[in-house]
This record gives sequence, structure tokens and C-alpha cells, in this order.
Amino acid sequence: MVFNPIYKNPESYPQRPNLLDYEKTGDTFSWQAMRSELDGLPEGRGLNIAHEAVDRHADGERKNRVALQWLGRDDTSRAVTYGDLKAQTSRFANILRQLGLGKGDTVCTLAGRIPELYIAALGTLKNTSVFCPLFSAFGPEPIYQRLSKGDARILLTTEADYRGKVEPLRNRLPKLKHVLLVDASDHGAGGLLSLPRLMAEASEAYTIPHTDPEDIAVLHFTSGTTGMPKGALHAHNAVLTHYMTGKYVLDFHPGDVFWCTADPGWVTGTSYGILSPLLHGITNIVDEADFDAGRWCDILAGRKVSVWYTAPTAIRRLMRMGIEPVRTYDLRHLRVVHSVGEPLNPEAVVWGIKALGMPIHDNWWQTETGGIMIANFPAMEIRPGSMGRPLPGIEAAIVRRTGNDAVEVIDAPDVQGELALRPGWPSMFRGYLHDEARYRKCFVGGWYLTGDLARRDADGYFWFVGRADDIIKTSGHMVGPFEVESALMQHPAVAEAGVIGKPHPLVGELVKAFVALKPGHAASDELRLELIGFARKRLGPAVAPKEIDFKTDLPKNKAGKIMRRLLKARELGLPDGDLSTLED
Ligand code: AMP
Repeated sequence: MVFNPIYKNPESYPQRPNLLDYEKTGDTFSWQAMRSELDGLPEGRGLNIAHEAVDRHADGERKNRVALQWLGRDDTSRAVTYGDLKAQTSRFANILRQLGLGKGDTVCTLAGRIPELYIAALGTLKNTSVFCPLFSAFGPEPIYQRLSKGDARILLTTEADYRGKVEPLRNRLPKLKHVLLVDASDHGAGGLLSLPRLMAEASEAYTIPHTDPEDIAVLHFTSGTTGMPKGALHAHNAVLTHYMTGKYVLDFHPGDVFWCTADPGWVTGTSYGILSPLLHGITNIVDEADFDAGRWCDILAGRKVSVWYTAPTAIRRLMRMGIEPVRTYDLRHLRVVHSVGEPLNPEAVVWGIKALGMPIHDNWWQTETGGIMIANFPAMEIRPGSMGRPLPGIEAAIVRRTGNDAVEVIDAPDVQGELALRPGWPSMFRGYLHDEARYRKCFVGGWYLTGDLARRDADGYFWFVGRADDIIKTSGHMVGPFEVESALMQHPAVAEAGVIGKPHPLVGELVKAFVALKPGHAASDELRLELIGFARKRLGPAVAPKEIDFKTDLPKNKAGKIMRRLLKARELGLPDGDLSTLED
């Protein structure tokens, strides 16, 4: 089944798409051409994301255009123009400078989707410091791992998050010098500073220093299957991908109102929830509240959203509302809907046509790629269930590992293998913080290996098959089983823990743990609840297991490593597969 929204019904897509001819655009594409659509810092001082996203619009015709349309949880709202955003981000950059932060120093944020977070992100980039957002639903353990591994010098957060989650960790974080509290009226002891006071005192005049395109701009933690989270580093040059994908995939046009529902604690919420729309000088909606079907439809209609970027879990939740109730909303401004983060089921694409009047365009990328790599472009025929085709300037392939240092490209269509990308695109991660060896391992035989299994059909469309490793995707959030197992192991009753993603119709995968108890402890429903509560307190609700099963013993390989693959196969009633490495 294929859909071609534009050619079948041109009226349904009033704007001429920026990418009309996939082949031709790919053949003539160059990153230099994208660079020439951006500004560059004055006097040849380099390339800075915040200048391109904010200052160049504030200094031009878009000064009074709304950059951020913030919608508060309590139905308050705040509109920040490009001119205001320039002033506020310059104040924040001056605060960092006064506090002694410069190039390469890490500024972390731990807050919900509040305006201060967006101002801090862009102000940090102006100061050539490194922006590192933490998901606000994390508990103390994931927060500690990221603040310490990220060498955070400054944390921006709220009084409640600080007291509840960070204060007890302070003595384990000697590098964290200052905490900026968004809701404190005055400074306190121990490096606690009132952000409103600092902002009121700071100057609006700030000259962005020389920024090399290779200077590190953003640090995003992402989970691995072994060890604690890895810090993926992105350079200012990533702005080329953010801009290009805004143009060709999201299809931004002047006057657009864009809404990306992702939280900036995850890479989509930064690359597309902050940067890409601002690079195009359009209005970016930021909703502080969590998912609510009625509220979301109200925003789409009431705020006249024209381009919407969301995730399969949210779409599946909306689908529960039924088609007719959604059709009662006036969505005439909505032009294109995109989805990312997990497989988008074909029924969701079809539901989009019935309920929203248009199909949902799936696209694929990951933290390490910094921006969208494979997409169903608006002008392209959609194949429901496919992630689409590679972007101009991006070479993607299906490969098979043939040894430690070699891969073989699989040219035949419809053969499953690992999804690989040819290195060199501007937003490719530049390293894993403090882990050069792990970074190098991602590149084999001239390809970056993504860790995803996929296949490509004869027409060049890519189809997602699954992860090549044990990483869990729950509600679109990546969860590393090791982090969850480590937290459970801190409980005095737990001898061993193995964690898997269990398929779930709504959230994609649900975090499930298998636990073997130490002698003297007996399995019971009380202990199960206690362990769930214990993990939740440490990890936060987004990461903690939702289900726990007790086992007398967990299957291990001959090196003594728990075989999560086997736990999962048995949980799902699937064949055990290769058991040659199972310990006796
Ligand atoms: P993250 O780094 O947290 O953004 O997660 C990236 C991972 O999410 C990818 O490696 C995939 O496993 C998964 N993913 C992202 N987009 C899609 C998609 N469109 N379809 C299927 N899986 C996806």
C-alpha cells in the first residue's frame, strides 16, 4: 500500500514542498550550499548555532516574530519574540561568563519544558560552553551518573528538583560549582544562585566569541547495553544538518507554526524542539504539560500548528480517542505530521489519513547522528511501515559484519543486516565523552554502525527490524538495561538482576526485570512492590521497571554474563536460539 499525499491530492498540501524531486535534489546536493544559506558569525568569527538560530533573526526582519510560544501546565502562556530571545540568551551567556565558564565547560539543565531551559540552552551555545540537558523525570541515580560523567560545572534546575534529587548528591559532585535555581528569589549558601536575580542584573550586550565549527556544542547522554550511559558529543557544525532537515524533511516555510512534542532531555527535543525551527525563523510551540489527548488536539487546532513532529507512543494514545472526536477539531492549518523514535505501525499511518486528513511521515535517526538521516519526505510516496529513504548528502547501507575490522555491504534488496551510515555528515557525533575506545568501535570498514537491524527494499526504502543489542525503547525513551540492573542490585535482597524490554501495544516496550534473591530472602508480592518502589526512587518513573519476576537463577553465558536475550525469548515464548554459550 502506498500513499502519495501531494500528487494524488495537490490541494491537501498548499505549500510547494522544499524537496520536490528526491533524485535531483540528492544529485545536486552539497553541504556547502546549505552553509551558504546560513550567516556565519560577523567578521569571520566562525559558525555558532545560537547566532544562526536567534541573533541573525533578531537583527533582521523577524525581530518581532514569536520564536517560542510557551504554553504553561496551568494554561498560562508566554510568547518570546526573536528580539526578546536574543536579549535573554545574551543575559544568560553573560552570567556564564561572570561565573568563569567558557569554551567547552558543561552546563546541565534538569527542568521540565520551561522557558528558562530554552534560554539556557541557547545562552550556553552563545558562550561556546556545552549544553547538556537531563530528562526531568530522572531519579537521583541517572542524574548523578550524568552530572559526574559530564563534568557539569553548572546546573540549572528548580528548587523542588534540587532539594529532592540533587542536594543529597552534592558532596559526590565536587566539580559542580553553581546551581542556578529558576524559582529562587535570592542567592543561598553552597553556590545556590537565584536565576531571576542574575538575569535581572546581567547585561543584554554580548558578543559571541570566535566559534570553530568543530567546537563542541551539545552533550547528550544515551544508554548502552553494557556500562553506564555514554555521552555523545556534537559540534556547532551540526547546525548544517539541523537546518537542512528542517528544510527538506520537516519542510519548514516562512510563517509556519511548528510543534515538536519531545522533551529536550532527549536528542529530538533539542535538535528539533529547540534548534531546527529557530534556524528557520518560524514559531516554535513549547508545551509544558504531559500528554493529554484533548489538550493536544486543542493545541493543534487553537495554535494553528502547521508542522507537527511527534512519536508513535503519542500517536497510539491519540488513536485510542477514536477517529470522529479528532475530526471535530479544526485542523485546517496542519500541513504535515512527522514521527520518530520507535517503529511507526502502518495502522498509525492509515489512522492519520482518517483522523487528521493526512498520513504520518516516519523518519529515523538516533542520538549519535544528531539529526534525521532517513525519512519519508512530504513529496514522497509513503510506504506505511517504512522509515523512508536517506537524506540528500547521507549514504546509508545494510551491512553484515565479516570480522572485527570489516563489514560487507549487502546489495541485494530485502535482506536483513545492520544499518550503517557513511561517516562525515555535519551532525555526526564527535566522540563519546572520556571513552575514545568505545567511539572507535562504532566505525568499522569505513562505516558507522548504528546498532539497528534493518532491510532495504528494491526502491531504496529502509524498513526497521529491531535493535542488534539489548537496548530498551519505552515510550520513545532509550533505557539501558545495565543502569536498571545496577540500581536493583543495590537492594539488600537482590543477588542478580536481568532487565529486558517486553513488547507492549502502547509504549512499544515495557521495562521488565528478572531478579534472583540472596539466601535468606523469599519471593513475595510485598518484596516485588518494594523492589519496584526502590528502583523508582533511584531511577525515576521513566526508567524504573514496571514488572518484576523472581527466578531462582538467571541464565548466564560461560563468562558469567546474564543472557538477556534468553530471558526475553523465554518471556515471549520464543525458541531459545543458540545455546552454545550458555554456562553449564
Ligand atoms: P535515541 O538515540 O534515544 O534517539 O534512539 C535511537 C534509536 O531509536 C534508534 O537507534 C532506533 O533503534 C530507534 N528509532 C528511532 N527512530 C526510529 C524509527 N523511525 N523506527 C524505528 N526505530 C526508531
